[in-house]
Amino acid sequence: MPRDLTAPAMPAPDAVTPDVAARINALNAFAEGRDARAILSRALEEGPMALVSSFGADSVVLLHLLSTLAPDLPVLFLDTQMLFAETLDYQRALARDLGLTNVQTLRPDPEALLARDADNILHLAEPDACCALRKTEPLDRTLAPYAGWITGRKRFQTGTRAALPTFEAEGGRLKVNPLAGWSPAALAAHIKAHSLPRHPLVARGYRSLGCAPCTTPVRAGEDPRAGRWRGREKTECGIHFEGGRARPGRAAKGAP
Ligand code: SF4
Repeated sequence: MPRDLTAPAMPAPDAVTPDVAARINALNAFAEGRDARAILSRALEEGPMALVSSFGADSVVLLHLLSTLAPDLPVLFLDTQMLFAETLDYQRALARDLGLTNVQTLRPDPEALLARDADNILHLAEPDACCALRKTEPLDRTLAPYAGWITGRKRFQTGTRAALPTFEAEGGRLKVNPLAGWSPAALAAHIKAHSLPRHPLVARGYRSLGCAPCTTPVRAGEDPRAGRWRGREKTECGIHFEGGRARPGRAAKGAP
């Protein structure tokens, strides 16, 4: 049964209570040996949930699984207004083809954008502040009423995700990673088995898709996310904690 929608969200991760820790442990024990569809189905029982998708390189797998279970679940798509045109086209086509009926496009607050990045060059000097403005803040505003959210992160993507759990508590709510243990081969097999369309830039060497100014193709042997913010220390946009580290986009929140 779905949880009481008026129940308070879970505390922040730095204040995880024994009750919350026990609940997360129980959910992760449930996930052991179960497939992603069963995990996703279990997550949907935990209260109002949303799936956050970039409609990027591998996003089609999780979106396809969702379409078989709950095609009307809110799918939150962050349009930073710096995305590749191919991503915007792919998002519309994929939502239509999979029958996802509740895709919600999140954009930065227009006034904040005008005040803090009117020339669209903030990413050059302060990428954390840019990600806060264009990603973290719109997502935080939208997630407020939800008990939890679902992501497509995988352990293989980068070293900081190597210990990614299936269920975790973050930012006061449940966070679910149904594909945490999937390999690139498993993703490719699922895509092939269901004849799912890939993001068109995958064929041009992009194995992780973000904003156009901050994304490059990757070379053989590199991490899939090596093309994100290439040449910078930054490895995450700030909407996720990774390995217990604070989200970089947070540091700039509220910056002028
Ligand atoms: S990925 Fe780059 S352009 Fe996109 S929000 Fe972050 S810093 Fe800005």
